[in-house]
Amino acid sequence: MINVAILGATGSVGSSTLDVIARQSERFCAFALTAHSNVQRLYEQCVQFSPKIAVMVNQSSADELQQRLKDNPKTTSIQVLSGCDALDQVASDEQVDYVMAAIVGAAGLSSSLAAAKSGKRILLANKESLVMSGALFMQAVKDNGATLLPIDSEHNAIFQSMPEQFNTIKAKTLNDFGIEKILLTASGGPFLNKALADLDNMTPDQACNHPTWEMGRKISVDSATMMNKGLEVIEASWLFSASADDIQVVIHPQSIIHSMVSYNDGSVLAQLGNPDMRTPIAHAMAWPERMDSGVAQLNIFEIAQLSFQKPDFERFICLQLAYDALRMGGTAPAILNAANEIAVEAFLQEEIAFTQIPDIVKHTMSQLKAVSADSLALILSADTEARQIAKTLCIHRDKI
Ligand code: NDP
Ligand code: MG
Repeated sequence: MINVAILGATGSVGSSTLDVIARQSERFCAFALTAHSNVQRLYEQCVQFSPKIAVMVNQSSADELQQRLKDNPKTTSIQVLSGCDALDQVASDEQVDYVMAAIVGAAGLSSSLAAAKSGKRILLANKESLVMSGALFMQAVKDNGATLLPIDSEHNAIFQSMPEQFNTIKAKTLNDFGIEKILLTASGGPFLNKALADLDNMTPDQACNHPTWEMGRKISVDSATMMNKGLEVIEASWLFSASADDIQVVIHPQSIIHSMVSYNDGSVLAQLGNPDMRTPIAHAMAWPERMDSGVAQLNIFEIAQLSFQKPDFERFICLQLAYDALRMGGTAPAILNAANEIAVEAFLQEEIAFTQIPDIVKHTMSQLKAVSADSLALILSADTEARQIAKTLCIHRDKI
């Protein structure tokens, strides 16, 4: 039996992971489930999956969960933990084999790192871990013999389109394998064809109404601004030792091709499938084997047409800002990410307009100088400072 800790179990990726585990229950066990404060959802998951440990980061939510689990004879033996340290604890628990890192945002960094330092198989959905601390994270994976498998659908597709040896040969460059370019696909989100003049008035619900994927609200807004793709460019650069110039973003509105790898003999390898996160989740859990994920087979005749276009950097300013941050290096990606988290939250609270998200990120980046990202302390300090600047900018947004 393989013991899986699911960090962010109550979220979109977490729930899809549990759906896969339910189909593969003779092979995988949900050993630990974590959430921030959604007691009802975590309670239901505890009843269905009987994990050994349940973590609620929020203390009062943990107390409430504990009480509800005690009142149900089926769930009395589940241990309830609380606080951020409990996330690191389950990520490094010696009984845990695989860690699904599916917490949203910078809040997921510490536990992803704890999984890397404990040499686990890390199923990485939390792209922010790599965006903020790519060098430290990749080093921790290497030094501790962890196995890092990408869950983000594009990166999972790239991984599947890479030569098998890519991940086992230590000194590797794309060039060594005849790879010319990584073609990172993007749906373009809900506003791909909206008149630019209308973007100011877009509401959170419109921004979260993604045409092809069902996801949490934060990443849905990031898809609408294409900051998500920007974060993914940075994520890909760390996962595949690629430079900004090696990664071409391709808008592909149908979300059927999940990304491609272009080789110097003219071949382009791609991974296709229905847009459903259970495919990359099942791939990474079963790797190097394959297993049923519950996703329907792709009906290529029904799709009939696939289209592609270049991204418009004037419409998707956040994508440009992310490329800039990657080229700057050091703490620049952490600053970009922190400012974006603040701006997206302010937009979701209807405090700023959709088009002010890139303004806040851009001004935070110009006000805070990036330094080298040699230690976690430096990265976290850049993250904190960037959040403070971005919050102030949100308040004084009319003066930007
Ligand atoms: P959701 O918002 O749906 O879920 C987030 C999860 O994280 C919930 O379990 C939530 O708990 C928990 N959480 C939130 N804040 C904290 C915190 N401060 N401390 C601890 N736990 C916290 O997110 P998604 O599933 O959409 O995304 C998760 C990650 O996966 C993100 O990094 C995203 O970029 C990435 N990803 C997501 C994809 C998708 O299809 N959704 C696709 C590719 C990548 P609670 O419910 O209690 O708030
Ligand atoms: Mg993605």
